[in-house]
Amino acid sequence: MKAIAKTKSEKGFEIMDVPVPTPGEGEVLIKVKASAICGTDLHIYKWDEWSSQRIKIPRIVGHEMSGEVVEIGKNVKDVKPGDFVSVETHIVCWKCYACRNNRQEVCMNMKILGIDTDGSYAEYVVVPEENCWKNDKSLPPEIASLKEPLGNAVDTVLSEDISGKSILITGCGPLGLLSIGVAKVSGAYPIIATEINEYRINKAKEMGVHYVLNPLKENVYEAVMDITHGNGAEVFCEVSGNQDALIEGLKATASGGRVSLLGLFKSDVKFDINDLVVLKGLKIYGITGRKIYSTWYKTSALVESGLLDISPVLTHKFKLEEFDKAFELMETGNCGKVAFIIG
Ligand code: NAD
Ligand code: ZN
Repeated sequence: MKAIAKTKSEKGFEIMDVPVPTPGEGEVLIKVKASAICGTDLHIYKWDEWSSQRIKIPRIVGHEMSGEVVEIGKNVKDVKPGDFVSVETHIVCWKCYACRNNRQEVCMNMKILGIDTDGSYAEYVVVPEENCWKNDKSLPPEIASLKEPLGNAVDTVLSEDISGKSILITGCGPLGLLSIGVAKVSGAYPIIATEINEYRINKAKEMGVHYVLNPLKENVYEAVMDITHGNGAEVFCEVSGNQDALIEGLKATASGGRVSLLGLFKSDVKFDINDLVVLKGLKIYGITGRKIYSTWYKTSALVESGLLDISPVLTHKFKLEEFDKAFELMETGNCGKVAFIIG
């Protein structure tokens, strides 16, 4: 089968011809239909410091995916050949302190598809049966491949109630755009987003944002205070991983507000924690992955009901062979989600 893999300690990937994997006990073989690019895959493509320390090569990459189950291993009980599934990419142990406290998203023995095990930029992939989420067969495969990142956005925006509340979302990359969509269908008002890239500013408007601010051109704090009648945003979701966005966002959050942090920062962040958090009485959530599987129920309900249309976020489709073109586009930032259509 064809697969895209990291084979050398340098920038780039390689397309390879490798044997179709065999599902072991409790595992299933999936024929991949669509697999989207996550920011993590771009880090691995660029071979930055994090990825060069984290990834053991050779490794088939990719993890946001959907496909059809074609073979099952021994003792697989619930998933059957023919099932059309999306995949939860966190392979958890179900036994550690976090898992036994129903916090599988922070499993202490977590393995990640496409990082610790061979991933989904391939014609076939093997995953544990527990990681399959069965979809309605009418769902387009590329939309089904986005249920995983949409789950990040669902947990970020909905870590507490937001209906009728003002929300500030910093960063309109794919996850910020999905967060705008979740906030919109959940009744938040006004939805204020920030972004510096013009292509993504326009995408935010397409997703129904009420106000979108460019911090390179305007003062975010002043604009948010103005829009919220001097109160600040009741909810702040940080989805850029940019230090300035975080600090401006904390300043612009209402006293007693709720903050959800999804963005990952390149280095340590320094700010006045007394004035910006403690003395404002903010409640802060760190968001990672998705709740396994309560988030998936919410995500699927939003998508399959037709309430939330995430198709504007998926801006480009490529064949596996075009991986260089796809990753070069990702590097420009002039895109939303980019997906490989496979098979
Ligand atoms: P992305 O890099 O495509 O998007 C970030 C956006 O922020 C970009 O469009 C960028 O132009 C914008 N930005 C940069 N500086 C800004 C500023 N000062 N103000 C406003 N916007 C600014 O990333 P993504 O795929 O959308 O993911 C968003 C973040 O979430 C990333 O930091 C990513 O690493 C992180 N992430 C976390 C998890 C998790 O489980 N915690 C999972 C996936 C992604
Ligand atoms: Zn665990």
